[in-house]
Amino acid sequence: MGRPTRVGPCVGYIGAVTDVLRPTLFDLALDDLPTPVGGPPYRGRQLAEWLYVHGARDLNAMSSLPRAWRAELAATHDVDPFREVRRFPSWDRSVRYLFTLRDGQRTEAVYMPYEGRKTVCVSSMVGCPAGCAFCATGALGFGRNLSRGEIVAQLLAVAWHEGFGPREIRNVVLMGMGEALLNYDAALGAIRTWIDPRGLDLSPRRITLSTVGLPARIRRLAAEKLPLVLAVSLHAPDEVTRRRIIPTAHAHPLDEIVASLHDWQAQGGRRVTIEYTMLAGVNDRLEQARALAQLLVGLRVHVNLIPFNPWPDSGFAATARDGLRAFEAALTGAGVPTSIRFSRGRDTGGACGQLALRDAGGAGDAAASGVGRRAPPSGGPLA
Ligand code: SF4
Repeated sequence: MGRPTRVGPCVGYIGAVTDVLRPTLFDLALDDLPTPVGGPPYRGRQLAEWLYVHGARDLNAMSSLPRAWRAELAATHDVDPFREVRRFPSWDRSVRYLFTLRDGQRTEAVYMPYEGRKTVCVSSMVGCPAGCAFCATGALGFGRNLSRGEIVAQLLAVAWHEGFGPREIRNVVLMGMGEALLNYDAALGAIRTWIDPRGLDLSPRRITLSTVGLPARIRRLAAEKLPLVLAVSLHAPDEVTRRRIIPTAHAHPLDEIVASLHDWQAQGGRRVTIEYTMLAGVNDRLEQARALAQLLVGLRVHVNLIPFNPWPDSGFAATARDGLRAFEAALTGAGVPTSIRFSRGRDTGGACGQLALRDAGGAGDAAASGVGRRAPPSGGPLA
């Protein structure tokens, strides 16, 4: 694994986890899956079927593959990238997953069984370097990027533990731990495995990628011409408020982010989801709703208002229900489609990072879990 290097308020990374851990089969692009030397090419297709149709997570289960070839594969590749998988079911039927990776670091996913569709929220990193002040993942600090296989396999592990086939998952949101556009190649690689007919054959229209708002990466993603759903975490309609709660806002002003969203849609990108976590007394005044509507003029958007799910020492409080409704009405009254999204699994640590934060306990345990717990800004996040 490469060492993180500072590049402004966010972090860039050299190398990948597969530099020190041997790759898993999920790290390989479908075109690169091995076939036995001198053997028929259909063995590669069979291997893909075992991984992505049957959801096998152990070479011993792949009974139609020659035993000698399975032994060769076992000598060079792992299948399962997770050393331990812990499951935290909620009363609302969602299930939070805490994964311990092969190097001992931890990341999370959430399974959400909505009516008639199975949705999984996955992570792209251990912790997150963006450090948003209201976010439990941001409080963990940054551990490392996940590899392509570690992102891909979160879906396979959830399907396996929930007892259904991996292709039954029809919606994926890259909205868990991490800033996916800072782990661009691995995140895009995972998406390509999910949408490949030999992989999970998932529609790209049912994949949502969430970003804190990195204009250059948004334009790069637009050039991929994939009909993904882009979700942008604005959380404030003005620079002053945004910089109080999102450190990356200093490097990426709102007007640059909005310009990149216009470019996204000019290149054929679909309607953008605007994520807005409602923080009492910080970003929930009605004039801020009107300013947000003004900022979004000319864009096809849907605003998701997210009630803040308090966690210990966050320094923030949730907007009351009346305030949520009034903010929603102000936006819809200004012509901006808006809804309130209540997060699932609130009893099991509803916002991403809360499980890992709780699991990490104190700073010493956090270090053991592979992430450095972020010190709160002096005077607290509201200072
Ligand atoms: Fe990272 Fe998203 Fe949390 Fe910000 S809100 S710290 S980008 S995971």
